[in-house]
Amino acid sequence: MGKTRIGIVGYGNLGRGLELAAERNSDLEVVGVFTRRDPAAVKAKSPVYKMDDMKDFAGLIDVMVLCGGSATDLPKQTSEINKLFNTVDSYDNHGEIPAYFAGVDASAKASGKASIISVGWDPGLFSLNRVLANAVLPSGKDYTFWGEGVSQGHSDAIRRIDGVVDARQYTVPVEEALTSARSGEGREFTAREKHKRVCFVVAKEGADKVRIEKEIVTMPNYFEPYDTTVTFISLEELKEKHGGIPHGGFVIRTGETSEGVVQRFEFSLKLDSNPEFTSSVLAAYARACHRLAQEGKSGAFTVLDIPFSLISAKSPEELRKEML
Ligand code: NAP
Repeated sequence: MGKTRIGIVGYGNLGRGLELAAERNSDLEVVGVFTRRDPAAVKAKSPVYKMDDMKDFAGLIDVMVLCGGSATDLPKQTSEINKLFNTVDSYDNHGEIPAYFAGVDASAKASGKASIISVGWDPGLFSLNRVLANAVLPSGKDYTFWGEGVSQGHSDAIRRIDGVVDARQYTVPVEEALTSARSGEGREFTAREKHKRVCFVVAKEGADKVRIEKEIVTMPNYFEPYDTTVTFISLEELKEKHGGIPHGGFVIRTGETSEGVVQRFEFSLKLDSNPEFTSSVLAAYARACHRLAQEGKSGAFTVLDIPFSLISAKSPEELRKEML
């Protein structure tokens, strides 16, 4: 198989991560970055083009890797772009995945293109492991824990509070719940029992910190259902100690294969950079998407539909010899 020529659509954290991932996969080549902004204002390693110029690249790009946000970018972009190109994206709005899949599937089938949706670690590698664990342990209990890691959505929610300059929110699994989940005792947990929220906040000079803390810990959905700690720090300390975007988590299933015989399945990730890892997963599935298209497949797919052999740079013969 020759190289997979990719286009990067949207240049944020994932877009930058895709360029790094391509440097470590000799069979992937970045043809260009496509942005809604003025290309001159976007400093990328690859050539940068206007989103509208994408149509000129039909036949020159095998797979467009969509790096836009899940909230508003992907629901608009994917079903437009797959009229001309095969696509891979990291859509992560779990509750909306079935509806998103249906829309992407309809446009991909109409154009004869292949689109792999919701690629990343969750959804993505965590989903694969949930399915694997359930298939081999039909009687059991599932647990997913996230963290320790930065939640961009929760950090943004704190930033919107009056008097806040900047903030970083870490989601942290509660150790006692992790231990219980691993033991196989089959306990149910509330949101508060599973995760805690740890916030580092930079307040404006003279701002009322008592009010800010109260607004954070009582914020419905985001913080109220959890034990939340708030620590005020300086902007310098935030930049120095909390500049990264780490994340990770655990997929655990415990179950019995006969009376009293407990089996534990566990998959975990500890990521220094959430976006760089997510982009690495997208890169592997871009290779798979190219192969699907070469086999004449079209429509929408998820990670659950893709054989592992398609995501690997190794040949099936090499995989059987070295990995099986
Ligand atoms: P991001 O950095 O906010 O970038 C999103 C888009 O915003 C970019 O594609 C870019 O589009 C635009 N943008 C970026 N920087 C900008 C700037 N300085 N000024 C104006 N516009 C800018 O988001 P991200 O961290 O790459 O994450 C993208 C999505 O990935 C998230 O929404 C999340 O849903 C998903 N995700 C999924 C997983 C998973 O495991 N499945 C994991 C992590 C993230 P233009 O270049 O067109 O302007």
